[in-house]
Amino acid sequence: METHLADWLEGTPDGEDAGLNLRRCVHCGFCLATCPTYQLLGDELDSPRGRIYLMKQVAEGAAPSASTLAHLDRCLTCRNCETTCPSGVEYGHLVDVGRKLVEARVERPLGQRLLRALLRETLTRRWLFDPAMRLGQWLRPLLPAGLRDKVPPRRAPGPWPARTHARKVLILNGCTQPAMMPAIDAATARVLDRLGIQTLVEPRSGCCGAIRHHLADTEGALAQVRRNIDAWVPHLDRGVEAIVMNASGCGAMVKEYAHLLRDDPHYAPKALRIVAATRDLAEWLPAQLAGSIATLRAHIGADAVREAVAPPATAGGRAAPPRIAFHPPCTLQHGQRIRGEVERLLAALGVPPLPVAEAHLCCGSAGTYSILQRDLSLQLRARKLAALQAGGPALILSANIGCLAHLQAGTATPVRHWIEWLDEAMESASPRNV
Ligand code: SF4
Ligand code: SF4
Repeated sequence: METHLADWLEGTPDGEDAGLNLRRCVHCGFCLATCPTYQLLGDELDSPRGRIYLMKQVAEGAAPSASTLAHLDRCLTCRNCETTCPSGVEYGHLVDVGRKLVEARVERPLGQRLLRALLRETLTRRWLFDPAMRLGQWLRPLLPAGLRDKVPPRRAPGPWPARTHARKVLILNGCTQPAMMPAIDAATARVLDRLGIQTLVEPRSGCCGAIRHHLADTEGALAQVRRNIDAWVPHLDRGVEAIVMNASGCGAMVKEYAHLLRDDPHYAPKALRIVAATRDLAEWLPAQLAGSIATLRAHIGADAVREAVAPPATAGGRAAPPRIAFHPPCTLQHGQRIRGEVERLLAALGVPPLPVAEAHLCCGSAGTYSILQRDLSLQLRARKLAALQAGGPALILSANIGCLAHLQAGTATPVRHWIEWLDEAMESASPRNV
């Protein structure tokens, strides 16, 4: 659509992002059908097209209002609309700019400012969040229900492999995941160890920057991005073959590093290297496992893991299909455009996931959204759990810490990262080596 950027925005990197994507939008409205907030609220201004219209006004120089801010706040940044859009609108880049512009011009009420500052400053600092989460897990039975939802029960991570290997990969020294579910990183390291790959965690790296980025703290996020790049580049120089992401939200963020630093002459080339080396576990591991699939499949058919997820044999003696449901996070399927990899891997291992309706829709977690927009988040979770549980799964698998904790808080059905399931399956199939 025709767009005339305000003078102060024209010619800037944000102006390029905004102008490109505003002009790409032809207002066709295809994206409305897949937008979770439009489905819940039925208000055009809570749809991608409506939000694009609001952002266009601001980019052209109109003063945003508290209402503009509220409509952008209600966006999950799930990027479902990007997947649907036939015109190639990069809504994620556009809303990043829109939020930055609106946040700078509309003052939030004090309560909102304090809550956002609390989330920004605590979630991203391991030295603060780790002990807070441990204390919360210890006191979990005494916590009020709303807070208990945010504190998953602790699962023992199990041993970290002691062996070293010539093949090495880095994983993120993340912020919330190691505190909430350390079992995910440990399971990743054990699976890779069995494949002859050593998992490294660089202590000078930390939060990927997504939490600050989505709270419109651009400079704070970029400081974390540059710190991670400085910590990881020496490992790439020494031959580490990939930076493997086992939280799809972090993977989507790290893959944006080159875009975020495109105008920083010192960091832009390094950021390109980081992005080129970054792989989500879901897109990288299947190729590493290729030689082990047949052995694993043979063992999984009879082992305890299979029994844990499969219903008893039917009266006719034939085993009923296994009951696993997989939830592909938005950051995997829309943010990184990785679709079907985990599902195909599970099927190759003999445990095809159950069909799930509306698999493209967000579960309502969306980083800090589940705290800042609790009502909408809970409505989306109820809808997602109804779809996931329609086939009666004994286990729900997913690929992002936020989705895992959010979904688990709403159901008694176990919710795990798929790598934890694979770790248990490999351990059952052949301890230590497949
Ligand atoms: S589908 Fe794309 S082009 Fe159509 S209204 Fe939505 S964002 Fe604009
Ligand atoms: S990112 Fe998600 S919630 Fe936001 S406008 Fe797009 S589809 Fe709707």
